[in-house]
Amino acid sequence: MEDYIQIKEKKDCVGCRACEKICPQKAIIMQEDEEGFIYPIVLDDKCVKCGICKKVCPLLNEVKKEKPLKTYAIKNKDEECARKSTSAGIAYLFSKKIIEKNGCVFGSKLNKDMTVNQIEVTNLEGLDEIRGSKYIFSDTKETFVDVKNELLKDKKVIYIGTPCQIAGLKSFLKKDFDNLYTIDFICHGVPSQKLFLKYIKYLEEKIRQSIIYYDFRNKEKKVWGNFCAKILTNNNKNVYINANSDPYYYNFLKGNTYRESCYDCKFAKKERVSDITLGDFWGIELIDSNFYDDNGVSAVLINSEKGRKLFLELVNDIEFKEVLLDDILKKNKNLERPTERKITRNNIYYGIDTLSPKKFVKKNLIIKNKVKNFIKTIIPIKIKNKIKKILK
Ligand SMILES: Cc1cc2nc3c(=O)[nH]c(=O)nc-3n(C[C@H](O)[C@H](O)[C@H](O)COP(=O)(O)OP(=O)(O)OC[C@H]3O[C@@H](n4cnc5c(N)ncnc54)[C@H](O)[C@@H]3O)c2cc1C
Repeated sequence: MEDYIQIKEKKDCVGCRACEKICPQKAIIMQEDEEGFIYPIVLDDKCVKCGICKKVCPLLNEVKKEKPLKTYAIKNKDEECARKSTSAGIAYLFSKKIIEKNGCVFGSKLNKDMTVNQIEVTNLEGLDEIRGSKYIFSDTKETFVDVKNELLKDKKVIYIGTPCQIAGLKSFLKKDFDNLYTIDFICHGVPSQKLFLKYIKYLEEKIRQSIIYYDFRNKEKKVWGNFCAKILTNNNKNVYINANSDPYYYNFLKGNTYRESCYDCKFAKKERVSDITLGDFWGIELIDSNFYDDNGVSAVLINSEKGRKLFLELVNDIEFKEVLLDDILKKNKNLERPTERKITRNNIYYGIDTLSPKKFVKKNLIIKNKVKNFIKTIIPIKIKNKIKKILK
């Protein structure tokens, strides 16, 4: 058996960078494949075959998972905070508690050049930079090393990321730290940055302006349950996009564009790698119609004693209702299994380097049932909920 990491099949790497960052010889570099996903490459002339890279891979090694201790539906008492966030802004509330204790928070930032990566935040203003879901692969860059340094300084740290990133971080750290809180979300998968950039080029050509910000789950025009994106251009123009009629967003929601490891995700399970798991509480209106809120309702899984203690600090800021894990699972299947890889995934990145943005999007990011999708987006959410109730 080789004593260094070798990725034989693309599904065998989540791109977390744990192997690259642990290598004392700096013998591993991360390289983009043709689709724009990063994978480790071992440099023969530097590698001493110590095998440490294999020991921190979250797919080659078992990372401890816990069954949730408690499961809740949660609303944020601060309506503005909920409206600015994806679900109910619970990630923000947890993060705020740690910042107020002079701790730091690691989360995902969308840069002005439309790339996305994990960053460290140490003040409340910084929390706005990492707020919100970015439906793209977020590069961990140097953050695993930065987390370790902060932990060793006895700082309280929250790391928010995909379940596989949390597993990678834990493998990299090798031991539990009392001052580390990990938060993941129910995740259906991530497309590559290269795909997102190609789509942004297509949009820029279409609207003839440069895009400087993209908010995936904006609530200014639509309420929480509708997926509506907001784009900000360099001329200060706002453009709103309905997910179902947008080529990138539609194919994201359909699961057609993800990293290969997402379809084989080892962490799409009821047992969780993090202290706290967050998600959208889809179907809350069927469980308790009075608890539904246009600003957003979060599904929150408390998976460890540490997570429970942090949750107790939020009780004055939230309204909460204990639910069964199965209530969350009903409309959130990624808590049980990975997204199914359909045949539509096979050629979706084909021509990304050679076709023009317009040709690429038209040929590959196809939207099916355009009329049906359009009708869906114009029916108000309250009517949709009523229909669902009658059908139930
Ligand atoms: C790619 C992706 C897929 C998701 N799939 C589902 C799903 O199937 N079902 C479901 O219920 N919920 C899903 N979510 C989670 C959901 O969108 C909300 O993020 C979650 O409910 C928390 O909402 P919030 O309002 O508390 O926090 P938010 O304001 O949304 O903050 C979310 C936090 O997640 C971090 N983050 C955002 N994007 C990324 C990223 N790409 N990689 C790593 N970290 C990131 C941010 O730093 C932020 O701190 C997904 C999120 C992402 C990013």
